[in-house]
Amino acid sequence: MSISAYTVIESLLKKPDLENFGKILIDFANNVYKVKNRSTILKQFYEQLISWSINKLHFYNFLDGQKFNYLICDESRAAMYYLNLFIPEFTSTVKTIKELKIYGESLLSKFIKPVGKSISANSLENIMQFLDKEYNFSSKVFSKAEAVFLILHNTNTIYNSECLCLNDNKFNRNLFFLYHMKKKKSINPEAVLFHELGHALHAQYSGNVKNVPDNIIDILQDLCFPKIKQSTKEEQSELFADVLSVGLMYQTPYEKIDHYNDIHHSDKKAFKTIVEKIIETL
Ligand SMILES: [Zn+2]
Repeated sequence: MSISAYTVIESLLKKPDLENFGKILIDFANNVYKVKNRSTILKQFYEQLISWSINKLHFYNFLDGQKFNYLICDESRAAMYYLNLFIPEFTSTVKTIKELKIYGESLLSKFIKPVGKSISANSLENIMQFLDKEYNFSSKVFSKAEAVFLILHNTNTIYNSECLCLNDNKFNRNLFFLYHMKKKKSINPEAVLFHELGHALHAQYSGNVKNVPDNIIDILQDLCFPKIKQSTKEEQSELFADVLSVGLMYQTPYEKIDHYNDIHHSDKKAFKTIVEKIIETL
């Protein structure tokens, strides 16, 4: 059997979706295990993956000191970026092959073909430009960690979107994973983005996305969430991201995608004030 790192990379590039990547990695792990020069092939695979990312993704921008507030990876590049972030590290040959297979299986369990809509790179760019004009948003909110938006050509079986703040020696990035919606008729993917931007704003403001500051909890309790103190910390953070997202959209062209129809206008106006006050402090 002949097998080459090049053909594996080619097949990843040909169909950049994470479900497909799962299948390719499992096949690769099964096949490369059986060949004599598996160690060389595996090493070449990792080298080619890294060199692709350096060339195509500005993955190592921090090395040459280039500064950007955010980067949008559309569906053609996002899956490769994702793979570069989360692929098991290369350790010993046999261990890495086993881990690649497990990783491939985890991709298959998490990702399926697109079900509902996703945000387009264009629409995302418009929203960021709007928020930058309005609030200088990206340079304030992403000043500690640059943002990377990954628009993925998959539906995640659990989430419509996720955000992760990666902070280690190598990277300091806010990562936004934007998937195709889980349902065909679902909330607007733009509204989902605003929710994630709400989390980012919260994180930059308080330094801890898992904990909503007490003064904010008091304000929200007085406004329209009388039972907020009975919620878990996680529920409070999710609610706060929603509050900030509504505040960001209120009285803007994006107001029409705000789906919180049962919240009174005066409360939404107060949410906008919270957003403005928080951004002022950044
Ligand atoms: Zn959330």
